[in-house]
Amino acid sequence: MRGVVFPGQSGVEIREFPDPIPGPGEVVVRVRASGMCGSDLHVYRSAAAAEPAKLLIQGHEPCGEVAAVGPGVPAQVASVGDRVMIHHYWGCTTCQECRSGWPQLCSTAEPRVPTLNEHGAHADYMKIPAIQTIPLPESLSFSTGAALGCGTGTAWGALARLGDVAGKTVAIIGQGPVGLSATMFAASLGARTIAVDIAGNRLEQAQKLGADAVINSAGTDLADAIRDLTAGRGPELVIETSGITAAAAQALEIVATWGKVCFVGIGADVTFNTRDTLRRQITLLTSWTLSTVDLMRCADYVDRNKLPVDDLFSHRWTLDQAEEAYRWFNKQSDGKGVFEA
Ligand SMILES: [Zn+2]
Ligand SMILES: [Zn+2]
Repeated sequence: MRGVVFPGQSGVEIREFPDPIPGPGEVVVRVRASGMCGSDLHVYRSAAAAEPAKLLIQGHEPCGEVAAVGPGVPAQVASVGDRVMIHHYWGCTTCQECRSGWPQLCSTAEPRVPTLNEHGAHADYMKIPAIQTIPLPESLSFSTGAALGCGTGTAWGALARLGDVAGKTVAIIGQGPVGLSATMFAASLGARTIAVDIAGNRLEQAQKLGADAVINSAGTDLADAIRDLTAGRGPELVIETSGITAAAAQALEIVATWGKVCFVGIGADVTFNTRDTLRRQITLLTSWTLSTVDLMRCADYVDRNKLPVDDLFSHRWTLDQAEEAYRWFNKQSDGKGVFEA
């Protein structure tokens, strides 16, 4: 089968790999959609690999159909032909974190993660533990299932961390795929949403997905603009998706008294002085992806509310176009891409 690897320095190779064969408790999924995620770019842009022969297949937003089932997998867990999302981490299965649906936080073993220490999904097939497959509702497309498995699911996870959002004002800083998904969910859940970005095309997309107000922070003082929109109070809830240190500082600056800030973007240094923050009674949260149970809830919510998750994808590619696709994605000026088969 084909698999996409990143040899480093923004290179892309499509290599031949042996077709995977499922062992006990495993399944092989025929990948029908494999999303491109911002975190791919860290590997894509990295220095040349020390051992090019050992490179792992990239892609960690898979969705597809079960193609083969290994020994000992009960039919109710997975059968050939099932349409499945994939919760793309697996751990020891028995610790508290694994049992509660958070194998990515496994406390007894290093979690297995496609692209980090297992082959990923930019391939024709992918082998995973059967238990990590999650049924894809019939009306949802494979590309929607792929988005829910990482970027869009990450937004759902952040809103789950923030708790009750209905009737509150939520500012979402950064309108990449995760931020746009957060805008879509928060609006659907009954919040008043303020979408913030420096790119006009992303803010237009945010409006289509339900943003009540948008702010282009490139040419405006964000704190002033937010105060104007919130009668001087600031938003009760802020989600920071950019991972940029200056944006994280703005999130702390704009949040209302008694408000909550949830940091989702990776890479920001978050610092604050208690003199400035102590009397505002704020709560700071971090959020990383979502649990298996929340992935099921998220898919169910998207299905029942007919949310346009597929609209997040501005570009659709085939695996053979991987080099061109990542050259486009590396500019980070546009929407989100997915490989389909
Ligand atoms: Zn991702
Ligand atoms: Zn565990």
